[in-house]
Amino acid sequence: QRRKQNRADKDETEVLGVRLTHPDRILFPEQGLTKLDLARYYEDIQDWILPHLARRPLSLVRCPQGRTDECFFQKHPRSAIPDSVPRVKIPEKQGSADYLYVESAADLVGLVQAGALEIHPWGSHIDDIDHPDILVFDLDPSPGVNWKEVLRVAGTLRDRLESLGMQSFVRTTGGKGLHLVVPLVPEADWEQAKAFARAVAQLHANDDPERLTTQSSKTRREGLLFIDYLRNGRGNTAVASYSVRARQGAPVAVPVRWDELNAGLRADRYSVSNLRRRLAALREDPWEGFLDAARPINTKLLKAVGL
Ligand code: ATP
Ligand code: MN
Ligand code: MN
Repeated sequence: QRRKQNRADKDETEVLGVRLTHPDRILFPEQGLTKLDLARYYEDIQDWILPHLARRPLSLVRCPQGRTDECFFQKHPRSAIPDSVPRVKIPEKQGSADYLYVESAADLVGLVQAGALEIHPWGSHIDDIDHPDILVFDLDPSPGVNWKEVLRVAGTLRDRLESLGMQSFVRTTGGKGLHLVVPLVPEADWEQAKAFARAVAQLHANDDPERLTTQSSKTRREGLLFIDYLRNGRGNTAVASYSVRARQGAPVAVPVRWDELNAGLRADRYSVSNLRRRLAALREDPWEGFLDAARPINTKLLKAVGL
């Protein structure tokens, strides 16, 4: 009994002032990556992840016993999340609901403490919840669609957005596809933003119906690349830049420059083990100029896509 007690006492540590239980618990068996390793990862890369993540409502993929055990997608805070992680009440269709957000590296450690292996923010901030400041075009290749095709579509979609006066930034997802992220001046509401994203995606798919689709149903998208515009509704999320993914190899979603996109840069190229090397070698933020590139979705733009 006594011995057990002692062992339990030792089975925790502190990172950035946040209590971390079971620091040696292995979350990614293939890499032997522990809970403490993941907390240190977020501590190390905090200046990269926080600017795009802070003060946005979050959903989490939690795998308390590690990525090969049970994982679940969670939208609302529960008792396992340390009290130190901030919460915000957001109005919903009926009443309101609590959401988590982060403001500091310590808050990220709080999420790790709860076994969060993925962080998925909204496209708006808690300070202006009903006006998105980003759009996400999520390129989802179905099995059989090769990487070159994903690259090609990323490029043509980028061109289409540019012809509409909108700059897009690209990130690997850590999974199979890519995300194009478009910074917005937060003026339009969610309905307008989603309608705009849908219209752009549909125009794009209509130009190449043999290879592209905007239909989410698995049978309809067989053999095609699905342009998933559904990340752009109120309450919808996409994985955060620099979040780890609960997948084999501890891959990370990583912003890259457009000229880095090539056949050698797979969606799961970067991971918790090699990302810090990449960041240390960068001369500037791959998404330099992101905030300055923001444009509003206004009547003129909606008209330009037939709305
Ligand atoms: P990939 O490149 O492999 O497609 P991805 O992050 O884009 O990686 P998707 O499956 O295309 O993965 O996107 C799913 C998105 O939907 C997630 O990023 C997440 O924010 C959101 N989502 C909503 N509900 C769930 C859920 N129950 N489980 C997982 N993700 C969900
Ligand atoms: Mn995707
Ligand atoms: Mn998707």
